[in-house]
Amino acid sequence: MTLLIKNGTVVTAERTFAGDVLIEGETIRDVHPGIAAEPAHQVFDASGMLLLPGGIDAHTHLDMPFGGTTSSDDFETGTRAAAIGGTTTIVDFAIQGRGTKMRDALDTWWKKAEGKACIDYGLHMIVTDLPEAGLEDMDGMVREGVASFKLFMAYPNVLMVDDATIFRALQQTSKNGALICMHAENGSVIDVIVRQALAQGKTAPIHHALTRPTTAEAEAVHRAIAMAEIAGVPVYIVHLSSEDALNQVREARDRGLPAFAETCPQYLLLSLEDMQRMPGFEGAKYVFTPPLREKQNLPKLWDGLKKDNLQVVSTDHCPFCFEDQKALGKDDFTKIPNGGPGIENRLQLLHHYGVNAGKITLNRFVEITSTAPARIFGMWPKKGTIAPGSDADIVVWDPKAEHTISAKTHHMRVDYSMFEGFRVSGNARQVFSRGELIVDQGRFIGGAGRGRYLRRAARGGAWS
Ligand SMILES: [Zn+2]
Repeated sequence: MTLLIKNGTVVTAERTFAGDVLIEGETIRDVHPGIAAEPAHQVFDASGMLLLPGGIDAHTHLDMPFGGTTSSDDFETGTRAAAIGGTTTIVDFAIQGRGTKMRDALDTWWKKAEGKACIDYGLHMIVTDLPEAGLEDMDGMVREGVASFKLFMAYPNVLMVDDATIFRALQQTSKNGALICMHAENGSVIDVIVRQALAQGKTAPIHHALTRPTTAEAEAVHRAIAMAEIAGVPVYIVHLSSEDALNQVREARDRGLPAFAETCPQYLLLSLEDMQRMPGFEGAKYVFTPPLREKQNLPKLWDGLKKDNLQVVSTDHCPFCFEDQKALGKDDFTKIPNGGPGIENRLQLLHHYGVNAGKITLNRFVEITSTAPARIFGMWPKKGTIAPGSDADIVVWDPKAEHTISAKTHHMRVDYSMFEGFRVSGNARQVFSRGELIVDQGRFIGGAGRGRYLRRAARGGAWS
């Protein structure tokens, strides 16, 4: 089937131009103004609309076990909500259990997605231990298209690995071309502070935030980048949340190091002060890691995005219902499952509070939500742009559509929204995934299980 999207304004990371888009099957064939419609073409009118490359959320946790429970969105409900918000690709995290093979985790996560994923998905591998054979295991993962690994400097005795493990993983990527992603917080120091807080009877949700200083994040970011520098490889810091941590990335980039970092909408738009205003146990809705920071950090993160010291905005979508899951930590903040929902609202929030507010350009908006993650994670130019040869993942974006974010109307399977009542201008009107119309006027009309696993390329090229 040949589809012709006419009269739209194409927005890529580089430019904005009036252009028609010709799609044959799953692929974009041609992009330029005035493509003539032929009788066999199905014509779609996009007058007054922007055409954006489908959003790429490089950090999600669907159907993920954590602290005795499981994140409330599975691959079906999570990717459906993502699609409605204009995201056509996610990269989720498989978790290697300690003492097990990464291969087993990959099989487990493929099964979680099978028959459910509504959009295309890749997988990162979380490494929890790395015996000698684990290095070959990493190479095997790269051959399966798992071109990135995440290691934790936080959560001692659960996910945290020592510096030797991190360094060996970094060194291995100089051979296999994968990218190491770091959860950078000094978990050992934080653990001491947490124990002291609990001993003083400080059990409320706010103490989750107060026991994780920004300096503990900055120290770990510094250490991660230093180890990557010694190993001579790039590194990517996930969910960077504070000015202190950003300074470390900027300093490294100023020296020409291939250090990359992402932040998330919650760190750009919500603050510790907002959490402090929450009555009772409500603050548990904002218990995630790193935590919300004092509000003076917010403009610094926007500035980091503008100046390319931060390259990507992802969501770290990891929803837990307030009523029965967050409640596990009613008497002890350390028992609150860590994570918050956001997979559906990333483009709406970034467009409104970034583009409409004059903080970033429309092209930069496309870059940080689609093009940069495609490049960094080995999916470009199949994903992340509107150009001949690329997958026809296209969002028909109505820049004037008014929308109020609310748990009452959202599609994520979770009973609250971190952005309840936020009013935004700009929303996805239609969404095409590989040429198929999967969202029309806010309604998902695609099928579950249509999403495909993406074999991502090592050495994505963002640093070459
Ligand atoms: Zn995460």
